[in-house]
Amino acid sequence: MMGSLAEMGGYYSPDIGKVYCECGSIVDLDRSFINLKRKLGKPIECPSCRNNRISQDIENLDRHFTGEDEED
Ligand SMILES: [Zn+2]
Repeated sequence: MMGSLAEMGGYYSPDIGKVYCECGSIVDLDRSFINLKRKLGKPIECPSCRNNRISQDIENLDRHFTGEDEED
């Protein structure tokens, strides 16, 4: 007996799907998470795009709260 796939680290878990991020990276994600994202119409991002987006959001918030974007 070789043992189940799950015992081998779950590398080929049937619950994990591969999705392309818009930057071209392949992301391994839980299938239910992918379905949820699709249902919500949200893009699927790799960790680095996610980090970029979050730091961008924080930067924008920062700018908002320091009044730097009050020019219009
Ligand atoms: Zn990406």
